[in-house]
Amino acid sequence: MGKIFVLSSPSGGGKTTIRNRLLKQHPWAYSVSCTTRLQRQGEKDKKDYFFVSERVFKRKIEKGKFAEWARVLGNYYGTPKQFLEKEIKKGDVLLEIDVKGAKQIKRIYKGQTVLIFIAPPSLRELKKRLANRKTETMTEIARRLELARKEMAERNKYDYLVINKNLKNCVENIKVIMKAEEFKI
Ligand code: 5GP
Repeated sequence: MGKIFVLSSPSGGGKTTIRNRLLKQHPWAYSVSCTTRLQRQGEKDKKDYFFVSERVFKRKIEKGKFAEWARVLGNYYGTPKQFLEKEIKKGDVLLEIDVKGAKQIKRIYKGQTVLIFIAPPSLRELKKRLANRKTETMTEIARRLELARKEMAERNKYDYLVINKNLKNCVENIKVIMKAEEFKI
């Protein structure tokens, strides 16, 4: 049995870049989520997310297809259950989900879940990053910052906290955590 490593961070916290770097360096199974949000430029269907309609998403909820799901900023996001439960039998699985989802996963897969919170150096820095990536309008940025404030307040519910000040160090620190977890009794 492997472990479920959950990465959460406020939107714009850099977790997609971190996830890609981690996956380049190690063949962890990555759980691609389903979402009803619009595809952003540069995102690939089935690689970044399974982009589905709200109707399809709700059908999946009814059929119990998600290990967890949550509504974030008006869109639905969910972790496909079948993939997670198949992969966890073979080895570690990486999830990149929000705080609400992380809490659900921890509750369901208690002894197997490691929660890692990736925090930006500051909310000011986060605002700068969100503005720089130019994928959100000013109103969306404001909503994401407000959510970030709330999510940051939940970081003490995680097992580990990593500050993403420098990308390389941040990735290295996450790898150290994952390594240490191999030796946990
Ligand atoms: P974004 O739209 O910026 O890609 O993601 C918005 C938020 O949804 C992020 O906090 C991201 O981690 C979260 N998210 C992505 N996939 C899932 C999922 O399957 N479940 C939950 N609960 N949150 C998710």
